[in-house]
Amino acid sequence: METTMTFEYAPAPESRAIVTIKPKYGHFIGGKFVAGGKHFPTINPATEEVLSQIALAGKADVDAAVKAARKAYTSTWSKMSGKERGKYLYRIARIMQERAREFAVLETLDNGKPIRESRDTDIPLAAAHFFYHAGWADKLEYAGLGTSPKPLGVAGQIIPWNFPLLMLAWKVAPALAAGNTVVLKPAESTPLTALLFAEVCQQAELPAGVVNIVTGDGSTGALIVNHPGIDKIAFTGSTEVGKIIARAVAPTSKSVTLELGGKAANIVFDDAPIDETVEGIVNGIFFNQGHVCCAGSRLLLQESVAEEVLHKLKNRMEKIRVGDPMDKNTDVGAINSKEQLAKIIELAAVGDAEGAERWSPACSLPSKGFWFAPTIFTGVTQAHRIAREEIFGPVLSVLTFRTPQEAIEKANNTPFGLSAGIWSEKGSRTLWASQQLRAGVIWANTFNKFDPTSPFGGYKESGWGREGGRHGLAAYLKGVSHE
Ligand code: ADP
Repeated sequence: METTMTFEYAPAPESRAIVTIKPKYGHFIGGKFVAGGKHFPTINPATEEVLSQIALAGKADVDAAVKAARKAYTSTWSKMSGKERGKYLYRIARIMQERAREFAVLETLDNGKPIRESRDTDIPLAAAHFFYHAGWADKLEYAGLGTSPKPLGVAGQIIPWNFPLLMLAWKVAPALAAGNTVVLKPAESTPLTALLFAEVCQQAELPAGVVNIVTGDGSTGALIVNHPGIDKIAFTGSTEVGKIIARAVAPTSKSVTLELGGKAANIVFDDAPIDETVEGIVNGIFFNQGHVCCAGSRLLLQESVAEEVLHKLKNRMEKIRVGDPMDKNTDVGAINSKEQLAKIIELAAVGDAEGAERWSPACSLPSKGFWFAPTIFTGVTQAHRIAREEIFGPVLSVLTFRTPQEAIEKANNTPFGLSAGIWSEKGSRTLWASQQLRAGVIWANTFNKFDPTSPFGGYKESGWGREGGRHGLAAYLKGVSHE
C-alpha cells in the first residue's frame, strides 16, 4: 500500500540583495577590466528581466587577451614553481568558498537553475576543482605523466551555459595547475559568474594575464579557436560546434579536448531497488532542467518492472516543485533561454508526431520567463528522434527491454557515448553491463555524481579527451596522451 504525505511549502526566497550586478561589463584582460565595444543583454530566464549589458569581444579584444596570456605565460607562470602556483589555486578556492553565496545567487539569476542546486552542487564543486588541482600543482612529476611534464602554453577555453562556473573550474583549474595561462569565453547567456570569478582572480592577486576572460557569442568563440597564438583549445558545448572546432584545429598544431553531447541510457534491471531507482531517474533527467550533457535521457526499463517503475515515477513527478529558481524549495527552475525552450518544444512535438505518448504532472508554470514542465514519453522506439537526439531539457524517453543483452544493444545504439546508468542489486550484473557499455562515465545505483578526482568525457560523438582526475591534467601537458 502506498501512503502519500503532502507538505505545504511556504515561499523561502534567497536574497537577491547580496549581489551587486553592474549595469554594464567589459572584458578581463591582463588583470584588469577593460571596456568593451558592442554590448548585448544577459537576462534572467525566470523573469526575462535584463540583468546587465555584456561586451561582445571582437578581434582586437581576443588579440589583446591572447597577448596578455602569452606574456604572463613566458614571463611569470611557466617560470613559477608548482608549489607557488598551487598557493594561488588554493587561494582562489578559498575565496570561492567565502563568496559561495554570491556566486550561487548570481548563477541562479543568470542561468535559471534552482538556488538549491547552485548552492549545493555548482559552487561547492567548482571550489573543489580548484582545491583538487591546487594539490597537483607541485606534484606533477609524481602523477605518472612523465618525469618532467611541461605545460602547453596558452589555452583557449570555451564553455556552455548549463553549469557556467563549474565548467569554468573544470577548464581553468587544471590548466593553471599544469602551468598554462588561459583565455576563457563564457556562454553568451550566462557570463556573470565568470566575471565575478575575474574579481576573485584580482582578490587572490593572481599575476596579471594568467586568467583572461572575454565575453561574447559564437563569433568570439571562433576567433579564439582560430587564433594562431593559442596552443590548446578546450571546448564544452554542442556536438555541432564541436565538429566545427575539430575541423578548424585539424590542420594546426593545437591540442584539443571536446566535451560534447550525450543521450545516456539509464538502465533499470528487474532486480533494481525500485524506490531508490525512481529517485535516480528523477535526478538523472530533471536535475538542472535536463540541461546536462550526461543526463539520463533514455530510460531503459526491463519489461517485468516497467509498469511498477512508471507508476512510481509518475507519483514522484507529481511532487516536483517547478517555479521560482530563487526559492529554496524549488526543484526545477527555468529553461535557460528562449532559443533552448523552442528546441525542446520542437523535439517534444516530434515525439508526439512519431506516436510516443506524452505525460507531464499537473503543474502551473509562471507566466513570464521560459518554462517546460517535467515530461516523460512512453512507447518510444529506437527509431524515434526523441530516442536518438539530445533534447537538453526536462524530457525523458522511456524504452523497454526483455534481456540484459537487449538492454546493452539498445543502450549502445546511439551516436553518443558520454554516460550511462545501471540499476541492479546484483554486483556481477552491474560489472558485466558496465564492461559492455560504450560510455565514458558509468554510474551504478546512482546518477549525475561528479567529483574532481574522476575523469569525465565521452566516446564517439560525445567528444575527445577527458576532464578531471589525472587524465584531465594530462590534457594540459605536452606529449602526454590523455585517453
Ligand atoms: P549550446 O547548443 O549548448 O548553446 P553551443 O555549442 O552553441 O552550445 O555553445 C557552447 C559555447 O560555444 C558557447 O560559449 C558559444 O558561444 C560557443 N560557440 C558557439 N559557436 C561557436 C563557434 N562556431 N566557434 C567557437 N565557439 C562557439
